[in-house]
Amino acid sequence: MPIPLLDLKAQYLSLKDELDAVWADVMTNAAFIAGPRVAELERAVAGYCGTEHAVACANGTDGLFLILAAMGIGKGDEVITTPFTFFATAEAICHVGATPVFVDIEPGTYNIDVTKIEAAVTERTKAIMPVHIFGQCVDMDAVSVIAARHGLRVIEDACQAIGATYGGRKAGSMGDAAAFSFFPSKNLGAAGDGGIITTDDGDLAARCRKLANHGTSRKYFHDALGVNSRLDALQAGILMAKLPHLEEWNEQRRAAAAVYDGLLQDTGLELPVVAAHGVPVYHLYVVKSPSADVAARVMGALTDAGIGTALYYPLALHEQEAFRTREDFSAPSLPVAESCDGRTFALPAFPGITSEQQREVARVVSESLA
Ligand SMILES: *Cc1c(COP(=O)(O)O)cnc(C)c1O
Repeated sequence: MPIPLLDLKAQYLSLKDELDAVWADVMTNAAFIAGPRVAELERAVAGYCGTEHAVACANGTDGLFLILAAMGIGKGDEVITTPFTFFATAEAICHVGATPVFVDIEPGTYNIDVTKIEAAVTERTKAIMPVHIFGQCVDMDAVSVIAARHGLRVIEDACQAIGATYGGRKAGSMGDAAAFSFFPSKNLGAAGDGGIITTDDGDLAARCRKLANHGTSRKYFHDALGVNSRLDALQAGILMAKLPHLEEWNEQRRAAAAVYDGLLQDTGLELPVVAAHGVPVYHLYVVKSPSADVAARVMGALTDAGIGTALYYPLALHEQEAFRTREDFSAPSLPVAESCDGRTFALPAFPGITSEQQREVARVVSESLA
């Protein structure tokens, strides 16, 4: 039996009646964009994350972009972030005209190394954008101290981390604002693209909302140049149906991770490290192999066995062509991030994976390493 990296079909079947009813209702009412379902989702997500406000938008990338734009961050400004993330983190920074400044990561958690952030602060730095990679929170107290000392904004890229906590606080509630993604494969996924911004800052929320809707707060009168980044009623309805299950799904991901931690402990692979400061949600369970060749061998064996796997991430952002060719960008040397190139890959750890399936994954991994 093939074992996918993520099983969204099983998740659909488990909620089929409810999700089909949302679809039918949206079609019947023919009110497709924004509206009461979206407002309801905003209240629910703000409540879940413990923030005053939430503003839905078209995807997580736009969420980051809208926050940066609403803060007035742009040309000539620098934003400190991690090179070990999905491309969108840094892309959003570039799209407001600012420059991403990459700081190396820590081994084990793969999160930005907070002890290296301060050395990267210049007079142009406007914000820090920590990414809670693979669903584990960055050491946000450390980030907040540095931000306060230098007068910087903090924007959490929480796209992989809905439900993760840090010292009891939820991801998305610890910076000035945060962006979440509802891309289908995320821990809370829509039936298409979707995103949301969380913040306690009412003015910032209002600016994000306006920019996400062509800079308008009154129809056909525009105070600013914005973009078209709204959420569909269908997506909001689907997300509302799934949200009550998120805690349980995240718990199942943690249980699956604990099973792998046991099964893989003697394989020579580096297993994910959990920092003492919080509870992760394992958006992905990522292991690091001793070399890219070994990773290719293990991944080849998994693929041959019909088991889903993928490199996260094959190439650090500061080494990507899109940045190397930018004139505002001087590629730093970031050895920990570079050491992950081609070596860090994910194993199936979706909610509902059985221990039998996990033993099969571990067997293929162990045999390919023998
Ligand atoms: C998924 C993701 C994004 C982008 O979200 P989209 O909804 O796909 O635009 C940004 N940052 C990180 C870390 C992500 O994983």
